[in-house]
This record gives sequence, structure tokens and C-alpha cells, in this order.
Amino acid sequence: MPKKTKERQPKPSTEAEEKLLFDLRVHQIELEMQNEELLHTRAALEASHNRYLNLYEFAPVGYLTLNSEGDIIEINLTAAALFGEERNNLLNRNFTGLIAPEDCDRWYLLLKRVLQHENEKKNFELRLKRGKSAFHARLDCLPIISDDQSLLLRITLTDITESKHAEQELRIAAVAFEAQEGIMITNADKVILRVNQAFTNITGYSSEELIGQMPQLFKSGRHNAAFYAEMWECVNRTGSWQGEIWDRRKNGDIYPKWITITAVKDCNGVVTHYVGLHTDISERKASEEEIKLLAFYDPLTGLPNRRLLLDRLQQALATSSRNNKYGALLFIDLDNFKSLNDNLGHDMGDILLQQVAHRLITCVREGDTVSRQGGDEFVIMLEDLSDHSEEAAAKAKTIGEKILLSLNQAYQLNNHEYKNTPSIGITLFINHQHSINTLLKRADIAMYGAKAAGRNTLRFFNREMHEIVTERAALEADLRFALSKNQFQLYFQRQERQDGSVIGAEVLLRWKHPERGFVAPAEFIPLAEEIGIIVPIGLWVLEATRAQLERWEAHEQTRHLQLAINVSARQFHKTEFTEQVCTVLKKTAFNAVRLKLEFTESLVFEDINDTIAKMQKLKEFGVSFSMDDFGTGYSSLTYLTQLPFDQLKIDQSFVRNIGIKPTDTVIVQTIIGMAKNLGMEIVAEGVETQEQRKFLELHGCHIYQGDLIGKAMPLAEFERSLGI
Ligand code: C2E
Ligand code: CA
Ligand code: CA
Repeated sequence: MPKKTKERQPKPSTEAEEKLLFDLRVHQIELEMQNEELLHTRAALEASHNRYLNLYEFAPVGYLTLNSEGDIIEINLTAAALFGEERNNLLNRNFTGLIAPEDCDRWYLLLKRVLQHENEKKNFELRLKRGKSAFHARLDCLPIISDDQSLLLRITLTDITESKHAEQELRIAAVAFEAQEGIMITNADKVILRVNQAFTNITGYSSEELIGQMPQLFKSGRHNAAFYAEMWECVNRTGSWQGEIWDRRKNGDIYPKWITITAVKDCNGVVTHYVGLHTDISERKASEEEIKLLAFYDPLTGLPNRRLLLDRLQQALATSSRNNKYGALLFIDLDNFKSLNDNLGHDMGDILLQQVAHRLITCVREGDTVSRQGGDEFVIMLEDLSDHSEEAAAKAKTIGEKILLSLNQAYQLNNHEYKNTPSIGITLFINHQHSINTLLKRADIAMYGAKAAGRNTLRFFNREMHEIVTERAALEADLRFALSKNQFQLYFQRQERQDGSVIGAEVLLRWKHPERGFVAPAEFIPLAEEIGIIVPIGLWVLEATRAQLERWEAHEQTRHLQLAINVSARQFHKTEFTEQVCTVLKKTAFNAVRLKLEFTESLVFEDINDTIAKMQKLKEFGVSFSMDDFGTGYSSLTYLTQLPFDQLKIDQSFVRNIGIKPTDTVIVQTIIGMAKNLGMEIVAEGVETQEQRKFLELHGCHIYQGDLIGKAMPLAEFERSLGI
């Protein structure tokens, strides 16, 4: 511009003009300078504005401004990013739409409260939406008045999801730390830093006693140094170790625990801590032991149970097929065990079983298995007997006989002296010739063979026996229904005096089977005893006999007749036996002496105390007693004098041998003499010949029963023989 001015001044100006010109120039320069300054300031201002914008938009926290309606009127990019939306989509939207539904109600309340207190900062946490998910945010709110006097809310928004998470983790960790399991934390040098409550419970030490100590404190001495060295080597190599360890509690108890040790490493992989999880497994271990015992051993006798026997039998078969040697199974069943249980109670039965178990063990070698199958059944497995079947059988027989002898010794059951016998079935085994089940079945069948042979004996398995047992099973099935189908009948066998006058009869039971015809008592009575139905059958006999005596009571010719019934041990020793007889007798008008009960010696001495008590009770009622089959059992004379028997019956086996077997002849004489001394009546049964009768008469026996006198016969025939 000065240049231009120069061009426009063709001629020199006046002084005043020059002064004015000069002032103008100064002013111009000033203006120019001011302008430049202004430009500078503007640039600086612009830069500052941009800096502010950057700060605002990209601040680490979100900023937004709401109007009093809650609409977003300003929001920075950070906040928009937190919501995962374009800023444009957010402007003018109501903030409520960005709040997770579960927090909306809270937001309304908070907003209301915040807006009431202008210039007062409030902060709270809310869950906000981000797309379909949500995040935890902290909101710092400041209500302000805008230039146009409207109420605004400035909010600073911080995503606190991560710290929330961490907080939660901490809470979980704290709960977990106080869990049921013991936790011990050590530093890298294994110095204990922290333990939880469970840990102090397990070890018995307080946490004060433990902190600063080393875990060696717990050593039980059950593991050697190599064990611990290996353990730590594993922790350091793989990062963890777990296993069972025996430790010692503060009180000195040694106990098993399950431990998991984990190494905690820093970001450089250097171990900083060890965390040990300790679970006391002493109880679990104890119950495991118990379960094992229960699973394989019989709790009453401590003998292996059926399962363990099957297991060992399987192994034995494998061994025998390797060494080609015979083994044997002995099936042992106690005779009359049920009646002991019924009469003396299960406690006594249990004691007997324990004593039997003990005796059986003493009869076999160490390696043999004595097992209890349940009830009164035992199975013994003998191994490695011989490579010849005959020799193996002989050895098994020897052991079987040893068992018979041992189990025949009297038992002491508390105050009771008790006698019992076993029946033993034996079968041999070798290789895998027969299955385990077949072998057990064979031993069982052989045992029934022993029972059928009169009990207290042993039998080996054979085919024939198998058939007998099958037949017996069929008979048993039918017998169970015989009573309800009215298939029983009473037979009467006359008993008379020397002069031919009739005393009465022995009542003998008959089973009229629809196909088999008459089944003899010798065949079905033992079976009925075995399966427990002798009691109702016996009761039926008693009742039918009472009814007969009742009918005879009505007639002059028959009013004096006596009837003798046979009573089984199982029936007699039942608690309610006396009661049952008394109840039946109470219904009668006849003299109770007309009812005679026949007992065998084995019945009487099976439980002598019970016998004495019951006989005395029944005697008060007036019942008569006869000692049946006398001379065949093991009568104790001392006891015999204490029992109120009215009569002794000489067993028919002796009568049969009169004049044939001199010893039996002598026995008959002795029995007659004894009965006289004891003041008892003497009867001979099985009298078949005049010679026998004469001999008996000669030696002082004046009452007879037998085919010579009269066979057992049905009622009508019997009454006819009496001449009625
Ligand atoms: P027991 O008590 O010894 O009965 C005598 C058995 O010998 C009867 O056999 C009878 O028929 C038979 N007998 C009698 N005289 C002679 C003779 O001169 N020669 C021969 N060879 N035998 C003779 P039974 O009727 O077969 O009875 C057998 C056994 O069955 C009885 O022996 C008895 O122990 C039992 N019994 C019979 N009836 C009953 C009953 O109602 N209840 C119970 N528990 N057992 C019974
Ligand atoms: Ca009899
Ligand atoms: Ca008899």
C-alpha cells in the first residue's frame, strides 16, 4: 500500500498533509498488527477447540447430556461406542431405552431424585444395553441449569463390567476358600501363609499355630522321603499333584487324606505360591472297608458269603484245570435248626451259627474256604485234594466225618446245653467240567440225600440221588396243599392188654394222594417237618383226635378208650404248643387222661428245659405221656426220672429181634425192668408174632401193639374190630 500511495503522489504535499499521512500510516500499521494478532488468536482458539473436542469425544469415559425429559441432547463418541451405536442414532433418543429392563424402574426413581438437587453430584450403578447384551456402568450425574434456564443432566459414564467381574471372582474365591475342604496356601518356600477353617478342623491346629510353619509338621511317618520328593517333583514339573497321604493330626491321630497341590505361577512362569486342597477321607475309607466286608463276608459269623465263595470257586476251577487236581464242595445243613430258632429264639440260633462257624474252621486246612450261604447252610470248598478221584473222595469224606464228629458235640448256648447234628452233601470238581451252579446244586442234592438217609450223616452226589431229589420236590409241592384239600386221614392201631381187653389206639396219620395213593408217614412227615407245615398238620391231628374222643365219650362201650398221638419236635418246641393243646382240651367233656402224647427221645432232649416246663404244664391238665421208640435215642436216665412220663414204648426194632439177636433180647428185658423201677407202664410196639408176645409177657410187659394185635386201620374198620 505505501507503494500505491507513492504512485498517487505526483507532487510533494504540504506539512499538514504529511503529518496526516504519517498518522494514517501509523494507524494502518497498528491495524495491521492488530489484525495479525487477531489471526493468531483465532488460530490458537481453533486449535484449543479442536483439542477440547478430541478430549471430549475420545475421553476414556463417556459423556452425555440429557434434558429434563431424559432425552439425549449431547453425547460423546466414547459413550456412543459404549452403547455400540452411531452417535446420530443416539441423539434425541430417550436414555431410558438404553437401560437394561431390570434396572429401568430404578432409573426413574434415581432420575427424579437427581433432578431435584441442582448442582449436587450423584453417582450410581446401572446395567445398560449394548446391542443384545448388557454392561455394568457407573453413572456420575450432575444436574445443571442451561443458558436458557432449562434443567439439564450431565452424565459421565464408565464401563465397570470388568471390575464387577473381578469383584465377583473375589467373592467366589472367598466363599470357596471357606469351603468344606481344607485349604492351605504356602509361599514358594513352602512356608504356610494361610489356611481356612476346614483345614484347622481337619488338622486340629489353629491358624495362628500354622502360619509361618512348614507342612512337614503334618508328617505321619508312613511315607518315606522318596515319596515326598517325588510328590514335589511332580508339582514342579506338571504344575500339580494329587493323591492319598497319611498325615498326623495335632492330637497324634494318623489319618488318610486326599490332597491336591497346585503351583501358582506369575506371568514369567515362576512359582510364587502353592495351594493345597486337603480332604479328610478317614470316614470314607472306613466305610469302604465296611462295604467290602459286607459285600463279601457274612456279618454274623464273619465267614465268606455266597458271593465270595462263587468268586473263589471260579478261581479254584481255573487252578484245578491247570494242575489237574480234584477239589470238593461240602454242603452242610444243620438238622432241626428251624425248631431251635422257633423255640429258643433267633438270638440262640445266632449263637449256634457262630459256634458252628468256629468249629467248621477248625476242621479244614488254612487255604480251604468255609462260607455261610445264609440260614443254617454252610458250604466248604476244599482244593488241591488229589489227581485221582477216589483219593480225592476219600480225603473229602475224612473231612466230612471230622465235621460230623465236631458238630455232634453239645453246644453251650448261654445256659442251655444244646445238641444238634448236620447233614452233609459232597461233590467233587475238576477243570471246568461243570458250571459253578451245577456244582452247588449237586452238593445241595447230596445234602438232601444225607437228610433222606436219616440225617447226621454225609452223602456223595450221584445220579440216582438227583432223581430222588427231583421226586421229593414234586412231593413237597403237593404236600403243601394236602391239608387244604382234605387229603389227610387218621388210622388207628389197637393197643391191648394181656387179657385181650382194648386200651385204645395209636393214631397214625395217612396222606391219601389223588394219584400216588396212600403215602406213608415215613415219607411225608420228615418232609413236612423240613418245610415247616408239620405244625398245622399236627394241630389238625390233635383236633381230629379230640373230636373222635368226644364222639366215643357219648357211648358206654367206647367211653374208656385212649388215643395216643405222635408229636413232632418242631411242633412241640413251638412256644404256643402247650396253649394249643390246652385250648383244644378245654372244649372237651372227657377226661384229659384219654389223650396221650407220644414223644421221641430226640424231641425230649433237644431242649430239655423247654420239655420239662411244657410237660409239667400239660400234666396239670391231666394229659398222659408216652416215651416213643425207647432205646434208640440217647436218653439220660437222670432226666427221665424228672419227666412225668406215664409210659415207655419199647421200640419195634428190639421187639423184632427177640429170640434172634441176643443183645436185643437183653435190652428188651432191661427196658422192662427199668420201666418198673421208674413206676411207668411198659408197652411193646411192632409185635408181630406169638413168640414175641409170649417173651414180653414172660418178662413183665403186659401191653401190646403191633400187626399181631391189629394193623393200623381206618376208623370204621377199627370200630368194627371193637365190635361196635
Ligand atoms: P411210630 O410212632 O413208631 O409209629 C409206629 C409205626 O410202626 C407205624 O407206622 C405203624 O404202622 C408201624 N407198625 C405198628 N405195628 C407194626 C408191626 O407189627 N410191624 C411193622 N412192620 N410195623 C408196625 P406208620 O403209621 O407208617 O408211621 C410211621 C411213623 O410216622 C410213626 O412212627 C410216627 O413217628 C410217624 N407218624 C405217624 N403219624 C404221625 C402223626 O400224626 N404225627 C407225627 N408227628 N408223626 C406221625
Ligand atoms: Ca408212635
Ligand atoms: Ca414208635
